[in-house]
Amino acid sequence: MTRNPLFTHATDAEWRDWRWQQRNALTTADALARAVPLADPERRGLALAEGRTRIAVTPYYASLMDPEHPSCPIRMQVIPSPEEAARAPGDLEDPIGEETHRPARAIVHKYRDRALLLAVDRCTVYCRHCTRRRITFGEESGFDRAAVDEALAYVRAHTEVRDVIVSGGDPLVLSDERLEGILAGLRAIPHVQLLRVATRAPVTNPMRITGDLAAMLRRFAPLFLVTHFNHPKECTAEARTACEALVDHGVPVENQTVLLRGVNSSARILGDLFERLLTFRVRPYYLHQGDLAAGTAHLRTPLEAGVAILDQLRGRTSGLAIPHLAVDLPGGGGKVTLQPRYLLGEGEDERGLRGHWLRNYRGERYFYPEPPGRDCTCPYEKVYYRDAGGGAAAPAVAGRDRREGEA
Ligand code: SF4
Repeated sequence: MTRNPLFTHATDAEWRDWRWQQRNALTTADALARAVPLADPERRGLALAEGRTRIAVTPYYASLMDPEHPSCPIRMQVIPSPEEAARAPGDLEDPIGEETHRPARAIVHKYRDRALLLAVDRCTVYCRHCTRRRITFGEESGFDRAAVDEALAYVRAHTEVRDVIVSGGDPLVLSDERLEGILAGLRAIPHVQLLRVATRAPVTNPMRITGDLAAMLRRFAPLFLVTHFNHPKECTAEARTACEALVDHGVPVENQTVLLRGVNSSARILGDLFERLLTFRVRPYYLHQGDLAAGTAHLRTPLEAGVAILDQLRGRTSGLAIPHLAVDLPGGGGKVTLQPRYLLGEGEDERGLRGHWLRNYRGERYFYPEPPGRDCTCPYEKVYYRDAGGGAAAPAVAGRDRREGEA
């Protein structure tokens, strides 16, 4: 990558050092103005944000900023707009209702079998669309060791928790040792089957993904790393190396993209992003409708925009490159996924068969006849899941097939 001129003095060793990247992040309007000529709205946005929200851009991520275009998707993700200081009707400080599901300071427990562990309140780069900005932008006092210990004790006491997402903030701002301590604490809990680590590091500070880190994460398998690419500009050689290091070490990588007005709100941009991610061996998992986080309305799209984008992608790229479109319902209702409407209705075809009419991605109508009989239960189910019939316990993993909601 071509470095921003502000950082050409750094040695290659410094540039490749994730801690150097964190230490040298641009955190003020003056520093950003030295990196790119700021447009007037960006100056006003930064002035309004000063002292109210956190700002940070790593030298690596700053080098992706287009100095000539304020509408650059990287700039729009990290430089506040003046609209960020405004409140739109419907904006919420806690957009997805986490506070009412927060039994411990560092735990959000919304779905029965899944919990979120907030490992840290800081990030390497502060995204202007952040949902958890009430925490990451500095209104909370952070998560010390006592808060994390309390979180581990909570998970230990709640045997229904099968899946823990270590998030924050960005847990990869922590040292390997600190993160390893948290993961080891979780892995020592017998009922925790699955771990996930949610981080933007492969996007904003790919130097953070060292061989040592990837090997450490692999020791806690099954562990998924969930990252957050939003635009093809972020798919650099460095980001590819980071993702491939994880996958090569046996750490599966999934991606969650946030649909952002004017940043990535087109089928062409998102199709390009998702196809590039697959070449990194990263699976596009969710496309998120923007949450109602206060100060982010200018970045949100109408609900139909995401559905229309999925409709345009379907049939034009492989299914692997099409994520679920998710809306995290305001007030803590949980996630729902949206689809274009393919099912047109019930009816009969020219042979007199009962069934359903559907449309394909080209808008052509097709008929799918119902099979004879409507009973869709599996006769062997009661034998296999013996607890359903009042017998012995079900198989430990297979028995948990009726999950609530999505995460
Ligand atoms: S990295 Fe994640 S938690 Fe941090 S500011 Fe960005 S979206 Fe928010």
